[in-house]
Amino acid sequence: MGTMRGDASRAVKGYCGFCAVHCPVVTTVDAGARLLSVEPDRSHPHGGAICAKGRAAPEFHDHRDRVNFPMRRTRPKTSPDPGWERCSWDEALDLIAGKLLEVRASSGAHAVAFNKGTTGGTALTDTERWLQRLINHFGTPNIGGTTHLCQWPRDTAGAHYTFGTPALPMPDVARSSCIVVWGSNPNGNFLSLATDIAAAKARGARLLVVDPRRVGLANKADVWLQVRPGTDGALALGLIHLLIRAGGYDSEFVREWTNAPFLVRDDTGMLLTGADLDGAPGVGRRHVAAVEGSSELVVYDAERGVYAMDARLALSGARTVRLAEGFEVTCRPVFQRLAAVAADYEPATVARITGAAADRIVAATRLLAEHRPVSHYFHNGLVQHTNATQASRAIEILYALLGDFDRPGGNVPGPAPKVEDVSARSALGQAMELRRLGRAERPIGPPATPGTVTAYDLYRAILDGEPYPVRALVSFGANALLANGDTLQGRRALERLEFFAQIELVETPTSRFADVLLPAASWMECSALKVGNRYPIEAMAHIQLREAVVPPLYERRSDVAIIFD
Ligand code: SF4
Repeated sequence: MGTMRGDASRAVKGYCGFCAVHCPVVTTVDAGARLLSVEPDRSHPHGGAICAKGRAAPEFHDHRDRVNFPMRRTRPKTSPDPGWERCSWDEALDLIAGKLLEVRASSGAHAVAFNKGTTGGTALTDTERWLQRLINHFGTPNIGGTTHLCQWPRDTAGAHYTFGTPALPMPDVARSSCIVVWGSNPNGNFLSLATDIAAAKARGARLLVVDPRRVGLANKADVWLQVRPGTDGALALGLIHLLIRAGGYDSEFVREWTNAPFLVRDDTGMLLTGADLDGAPGVGRRHVAAVEGSSELVVYDAERGVYAMDARLALSGARTVRLAEGFEVTCRPVFQRLAAVAADYEPATVARITGAAADRIVAATRLLAEHRPVSHYFHNGLVQHTNATQASRAIEILYALLGDFDRPGGNVPGPAPKVEDVSARSALGQAMELRRLGRAERPIGPPATPGTVTAYDLYRAILDGEPYPVRALVSFGANALLANGDTLQGRRALERLEFFAQIELVETPTSRFADVLLPAASWMECSALKVGNRYPIEAMAHIQLREAVVPPLYERRSDVAIIFD
């Protein structure tokens, strides 16, 4: 809601839309609708600080690089200058709709792909669910994104496949006794979290920071581990090793809530199943654990989430098990196998791999073991490496050993507002979902969860027609050429497209290959509804309306308006 000031300027409360943190802000506008400033909204329950990018928003509003009018190209895509020619919105939208319908009619909806920017650094959350609705109703399974570049190893491979949550739950910093910040500098990009961590530190919480650079919170850390980029997985294994050796893990949590007691067959390396024991494979997913101090086995029913009987389960010790097929195999608990893998990572070895001092690694383990509950936050500093998936999994296994997941002071899945899902997922159908590019090669990868196509699969479909040709692309704010590797292949793919429409704030190397370039309004020029906050936990169930601060300049339109048009 805007409030007038004595000097005829207006102060409009809302939230910054430049990244997914959505800091509460007050934007001041003068009588001529000129943006004067963006400041933190300190009257908001979760307002307090904003970063330089948010403060610079007024400069961006009428920057000379902004795209202000719909344009179509007049020169070949191989020309360094697209020869942009202004056209009307009606002409541009008719051109796009006509081409997409033509491709769908002749080659199928999957021959059209969409693309989107990152929610992490843009206002895409304003748009995403409506964009998904458009795509699902259009009928293509192919929506590209940036998931494969950063978020997937952390949120899907790390959190989802370890804890079952859609993403890594946020740290409950206010109640933590020890906070781990790994591969992230919240002082630069997540000020509300950085402020809360500093406050927790001031009240006595311990702080462990893993970062190649001594920046931000690393200066306040009780232990700062200066690792070489890309060596985080080795560090996590080293910490797991020391934690297990010192008995610093939560053995009750590990027994009750993890698969650590499940037996693994030595001969196949696979989990021993109920079907191995009784030869009844159709009974459902059943795993097997051993009872501590006895030769008895107990079956776990994965569908119901219960063991067949109450017993203290063994975390170590080999068992010889007779299978239904008549032969015997040796089996050991998952926990024992984990301990064996991690045992290769003594502090001296980890120090050699990571560059962090061995005594600091030991001190870090002591912090984790002695100051509970522990919460953690890790981000893009460690997920943009080729080994990011396994590093993320190792970190989450380390965290599972601490037993603080979903405990006050740990990482706690927050409440979410209940709202109607407008993405129309059922409109697409499962058969089409299975045709998503890359799905066959990576059945548990980004094409399956959360359901996005990698740039490389898209390029292959455009250039080689594998597994089928993609002929047209509509992109909301994605700069695929700069975000992904192999720029030359990307460039060839964009040149090859029969039709490419880009919706953008500014011209980019990617938008230069568009047939039609549409001017997007920024977050200050359009209203939006924020459903749930990312942080803190107390704000996760909140819904906030952001009104447009000013009407769109020139002929810019919001992404949502373009989708509905
Ligand atoms: S962290 Fe910066 S860019 Fe992100 S919402 Fe806050 S002020 Fe905006």
